[in-house]
Amino acid sequence: MSTVLVTGGSGFIGSHTILQLLAQGHTVRTTVRSLSRESEVRAMLAQGGAEPGERLTFYAADLESDAGWARAVEGSDHVLHIASPFPAGVPKDDDELIVPAREGALRVLRASTEAGVKRVVMTSSYAAIGYGHKPQARPFDETDWTDLKGPGLTAYVKSKTIAERAAWDYVAGQNGKLELAVVNPVGVFGPALAADTSTSILLVQRLMDGALPGCPKLYFGCVDVRDVADLHLRAMTDPAAKGERFLAVAEDFISMKRIAEILKARMGDAAKRVPTRELPNWLVWLASLRDPAVKLILPELGKNRNATNEKARRMLGWEPRSNEESLVATAESLVRLGLLKP
Ligand code: NAP
Repeated sequence: MSTVLVTGGSGFIGSHTILQLLAQGHTVRTTVRSLSRESEVRAMLAQGGAEPGERLTFYAADLESDAGWARAVEGSDHVLHIASPFPAGVPKDDDELIVPAREGALRVLRASTEAGVKRVVMTSSYAAIGYGHKPQARPFDETDWTDLKGPGLTAYVKSKTIAERAAWDYVAGQNGKLELAVVNPVGVFGPALAADTSTSILLVQRLMDGALPGCPKLYFGCVDVRDVADLHLRAMTDPAAKGERFLAVAEDFISMKRIAEILKARMGDAAKRVPTRELPNWLVWLASLRDPAVKLILPELGKNRNATNEKARRMLGWEPRSNEESLVATAESLVRLGLLKP
């Protein structure tokens, strides 16, 4: 069993990944921006059924500073670089996301090379694969890269694309001293372990809370956080994963209306506020005149940027849960944690 550093242990994917590493018998280190969050992260892991004690240690490190990274990485066989800014809102300046994503990845990779880490697995995103292009007939796959010159890219999409490119460029210049594998998840759902959970969970939370008047014609790729964690572990240990990127998507993309229908059908009274009617595009355009957040979704209306998981299944034997199982697990966790409107 190896010693593994997980960056961003306070996050949704980070905490689930720690759970699986512990379950497989690894010794785990994790970084948080402030050590004051250790007890919160331990509580999240307890929510997931783990009491790791001394098998888990915490290190303070921020993607925006050099301090702490060398110490956190030292003695690790593998590093799972999961931390990256993923805010719900739009930053004033794109660099608020791009700089920590790119420079943070480079800090982690440099420290890993210096410490003789065998392989880094980096959490990139579908955001680095399927944007800036017109929708296409074939599903997007790992050979595709987001076109940074394309229209309507958000700061987040740019940050993930630029950070992943920088990581591959860095590793290419290391003459084989460091191995890299990358996981590119679509929207990640599944059981939240704490109130402070990922931006992706907000979609289910807002639907359940009746915060939306209906479902815009949007299409989503879904994957369960437990399967994303599992794919990180496979990419960490399988020799074939070296130098490869893997899309983490459970099934074909589904419409927001279908997501709403699944919640309505499976969540009983807790889903009484979920709207299942589809909103015509003109109504969403009208709403965007008053709400700048709605403006962000306009370029995506009616577009289905489907993606395939064929590579992860074929090369790593990955078998993700269904969209339905993952969405229901999300909603059930929101109920369990008391995170829905009474
Ligand atoms: P999350 O719960 O918001 O976790 C983000 C993690 O990154 C947190 O641990 C956060 O620490 C850390 N972080 C952010 N800025 C940092 C900084 N400047 N220095 C150090 N740590 C920092 O979101 P998540 O869904 O687990 O996302 C984890 C990774 O998966 C990210 O790279 C994200 O881009 C990627 N991803 C997520 C999805 C999705 O749908 N959820 C899809 C594709 C890719 P704090 O707790 O201190 O904020």
